[in-house]
Amino acid sequence: MARRRERIALMSNSPGTERYLTVYRYGRAGARPKVYMQAAIHANELPGVMALHHLLPMLDKADALGRIKGEIVVVPSCNPIGFSQFMNAQHLGRYHFLGRDNFNRNHYDLSQEVAASVKDRLGRDAAANVALIRAAAIAAAKAIRPGSEIADWRRTLIGLSIDSDIVLDLHCDQIAALHLFISAKDIEPARALAADLGVEACMYNEPWPAALTFSGVNGALWPRLQEMFPDYPIPQACFSTTIEYRGQGDVTDQTGREDAASLYRFLVRRGVVRGKAGKPARLKCAITPIAGMDVGYAPRAGMLTYLKGPGARVRKGEVVCEIVDPLAGDPRKRVALKSATDGVLFSRRQNGLLVHPGMVLFRIAGEKRLRHRIGKSGLDD
Ligand SMILES: [Zn+2]
Repeated sequence: MARRRERIALMSNSPGTERYLTVYRYGRAGARPKVYMQAAIHANELPGVMALHHLLPMLDKADALGRIKGEIVVVPSCNPIGFSQFMNAQHLGRYHFLGRDNFNRNHYDLSQEVAASVKDRLGRDAAANVALIRAAAIAAAKAIRPGSEIADWRRTLIGLSIDSDIVLDLHCDQIAALHLFISAKDIEPARALAADLGVEACMYNEPWPAALTFSGVNGALWPRLQEMFPDYPIPQACFSTTIEYRGQGDVTDQTGREDAASLYRFLVRRGVVRGKAGKPARLKCAITPIAGMDVGYAPRAGMLTYLKGPGARVRKGEVVCEIVDPLAGDPRKRVALKSATDGVLFSRRQNGLLVHPGMVLFRIAGEKRLRHRIGKSGLDD
């Protein structure tokens, strides 16, 4: 069965213009497991686009050999609104120009609509409950009447993904090591993905991502329903994760090919594509709580310079970066920002950045929960 390419038009935002999503589908509709993959929901994050660019021909080959067992849906660049955001000769793409929404927030949590639809039909059979919930979720997505282009875009994405067994949302950071954000409900399936991808940090939300990120609303549908219907068997039927493919500048064919190969290996391991995945690689990092993530905020304005690179292991109390006051006339007039934990510096910004107070300057994945971080998601920007 050859791949199908779909073009889905979004509600027009101005007369004479129309944006659309391009979707690639493999396998029989309804075959399991179903995997949904998308890249660049933050439109200026392209390493995942490069990975999917190299993955598609691999899936074409698997398809030609009859190896696609499940259903695969790929949206290689999923944010045409953000793809048009050029200003002062720069591509922006993180926030919507109208309303300044972060493109990865406020996605549709369908759990209330699904609960209303299934409440009198749940039973003792977990598999039957999963099928019922998935059908109700698809119906709920279809029933949304969007009032704007961005609402139509969110509705379309959730309608493509919400009945999946696996959702992979491909992002990147500014300067970063490869890392994952998952739910505490998904630690076991995340181990295989983290090992196959070779991630250097993997953090779990407890118990699930409460913020309405795209990955969050897909995965959290199940625990939200489990909470609402504790008397019925409702499994965690979707493993949904945010993959942060290093930094914005890490876009090469070499890394794209390697990332595609590791995604493909994971698809084989999960039985979506037939083949041999081989022995899982050793996990490079601990799987750590999001409350163990130290976030460094700029206490003042100034010029930024780092002492540590992405992926560096740091100790509590070590200086990660300094903010230099360029007007002080004294090179000693600088503020040092130190790590509050032992862990992996998985994300930072670029040297020479002019920073303002409150700006996030780094993130460190540590195993120990930090009292000042408990209950915080880390979604500061
Ligand atoms: Zn992102």
